[in-house]
Amino acid sequence: MSAPNPPRRLNGNRLVRAEILAIGSELTCGSRLDTNSQWLSRELEALGWTVVRHTTLADELDAIVAEISAAPQRSDLLLITGGLGPTLDDLTRDALAQAFASPLERDPVSLQQIRDLFAARGRSMPESNLRQADRPRESESLFNSCGTAPGILMRIPRTDHAHPCLIAALPGVPAEMRVMFQEQVLPQLPASSARLVRGVLRSFGFGESEAEQRLGDLTARGRNPEVGITASEAVISLWVSSRSADAETAEQMFQRTAAEIRDRLGAAVYGDGDIELHEVLLQQLHDRRLQISVLEGTTTGGQIGMWFSADHRSSTVLEQAALLTDSDWNKADSTADNDPFADWKKQVVSSCDRIFSARSLGGILLSSGCCDQQQESGVMLRRGQIAVATPDLIRFVDVSMSGNLRIFRQRAARTAINLLRLHYSAPEWEVPGMVKLPR
Ligand code: AMP
Ligand code: MG
Repeated sequence: MSAPNPPRRLNGNRLVRAEILAIGSELTCGSRLDTNSQWLSRELEALGWTVVRHTTLADELDAIVAEISAAPQRSDLLLITGGLGPTLDDLTRDALAQAFASPLERDPVSLQQIRDLFAARGRSMPESNLRQADRPRESESLFNSCGTAPGILMRIPRTDHAHPCLIAALPGVPAEMRVMFQEQVLPQLPASSARLVRGVLRSFGFGESEAEQRLGDLTARGRNPEVGITASEAVISLWVSSRSADAETAEQMFQRTAAEIRDRLGAAVYGDGDIELHEVLLQQLHDRRLQISVLEGTTTGGQIGMWFSADHRSSTVLEQAALLTDSDWNKADSTADNDPFADWKKQVVSSCDRIFSARSLGGILLSSGCCDQQQESGVMLRRGQIAVATPDLIRFVDVSMSGNLRIFRQRAARTAINLLRLHYSAPEWEVPGMVKLPR
């Protein structure tokens, strides 16, 4: 057996490692999703704890005892949810008693509270509910202001640690669990936990591994601030978690790392928080009092127009958004050896000339029709092109990829939106595979 990880401490005695155990066969068999662990993790992380482990167990005594017994060697805090009901499959009380050799005793105060609750509801109390007042001898009850099952709090001494491990068992019902955590557990958490500042930067243009390569040592495990990378619909998000003894230092460290990320990824970073790429472009156009036109074939299938038209700024920024089903526009010749989009490109050039000479526009976003092309490897490649025209240039990018149509469209739509964004924020930026034509 490998040696347990020593608790990670910041600034001497700060306790930071936490784990969560969700108990219930309804969770392990898949009929219910464990939402408690997610909610508790967010709460703990915001308070500066690092949640290092989530475990989900069926209602089986031996497995629960083993998990609970091992936690104090690994972590400073264990939160358990579920298994506090009145029925025989609710085993959390028994497991705590067995794990720490602390026999169950009936808590008279809890017992009275349960009796009062039934009386207030005008119902007689079933015998089985008596069990809910049981708790290990060396524990405290946590009052449940929304249900019958009290929670249980234990402090498990550790020979090699200055602090005991705190264990809190909470009800499984999410609404009861949340209130008990806030009312009963929060005030008992060691106040010495570190401060956390967390935020996210959004980028577009690099793949996940390319972004990681550019970020280099910033993404090293164990670094503080920590930088995590996730990819969704071609947007690469950089999650920065900065921990320190005080909030001000954590904020400064966060800002330094965020600036370093912006430096290494350059103009690919388009914003932070929940901002969307099209919102950035809409604001740029709005600030410059410019209008654009959107002409989409099936490659983006109306996605760009849909994003824009959902934003209030579109009434001043969007001159028109059209989904072109015209056969010429959609003609992409998948059997063509060279460029299946050659005809479409010619049409884009002449359409843009016509539109720009007739109307005063900042830009035109366009996409071709798409077609499927069987590759020698057997992979089906979905072919598509986008184009972005400004008064002096037309840029074409091939956005072909295999796989899901929704992701293909979103990636293609974002590629077009991003090109026009870069035209305003970083005109020197080159996108791989981009073909530029003077207008
Ligand atoms: P218990 O406290 O084990 O009797 O759980 C009561 C009910 O709470 C269960 O029947 C589930 O519907 C719900 N529940 C238990 N654990 C969770 C969890 N981890 N996440 C979401 N719901 C849960
Ligand atoms: Mg249960």
